[in-house]
Amino acid sequence: MIQLDGVQRHFTVGGELVRALDGVDLDLADGEYVSIMGPSGSGKSTLLHVLGLLDRPTSGVYRIDGRDVTALDDEVRTRVRAEKIGFVFQFFHLVPRLTAAENVELPLTLAGVPPPQRRERVMQVLEAVGLTGRARHLPGQLSAGQRQRTAIARATVTSPSLLLADEPTGNLDRRTGSDVIDLLERLNTGGITLVVVTHDPEIGGRAGRHIRLVDGRVAADDGVRAAS
Ligand code: ADP
Ligand code: MG
Repeated sequence: MIQLDGVQRHFTVGGELVRALDGVDLDLADGEYVSIMGPSGSGKSTLLHVLGLLDRPTSGVYRIDGRDVTALDDEVRTRVRAEKIGFVFQFFHLVPRLTAAENVELPLTLAGVPPPQRRERVMQVLEAVGLTGRARHLPGQLSAGQRQRTAIARATVTSPSLLLADEPTGNLDRRTGSDVIDLLERLNTGGITLVVVTHDPEIGGRAGRHIRLVDGRVAADDGVRAAS
């Protein structure tokens, strides 16, 4: 369960205040499938970064499973992120010198999982994304779609409860993008809470709930806010 209350994220650029998020109230139930759309610069990535504990709100409160994560120190935040959250980016963000399997293994290494368990788990998730035969390939030896599937395997290898994807199909052709969304949707069917930021109305329309951001605020949301 995710709860944002009055979340603001302001930046000061050249003396100008930018209200990237300007008072966002949002509840996401476990297992929801939500798309976030809105004009460029409306705060979509900023919102995803806050949700993913990659950034902190300037003000407001963010709770995960009832726990206020806004004020946690960096070490605890990093641990909560590693345990609960997976992130998928438009440009994949794979380490070019590591194989697909090594990229996927990284979060487990950081979490201190012993090598034999790491290897077993890596093979499981690579199989889940259909890349068993590509485990030893470097990112440069993979197609764009395979790179994104590798990134999805890396994002889910720690079995997070929340998966955040920022324009995950933005660098893929339509067909490959649709396959990547199919894969994310299968993970959601398996129970993970899925939030997809997209420019593509067709992809955004596939979600169970549709949120529109404008000027750092929720301008439309066809989900039901849980009573609190
Ligand atoms: P979107 O993903 O919807 O295109 P962003 O969340 O990236 O929008 O950006 C929202 C606004 O915040 C924009 O005006 C952007 O320039 C600004 N912004 C985002 N990140 C930063 C940052 N790190 N420093 C300064 N301004 C930022
Ligand atoms: Mg963005």
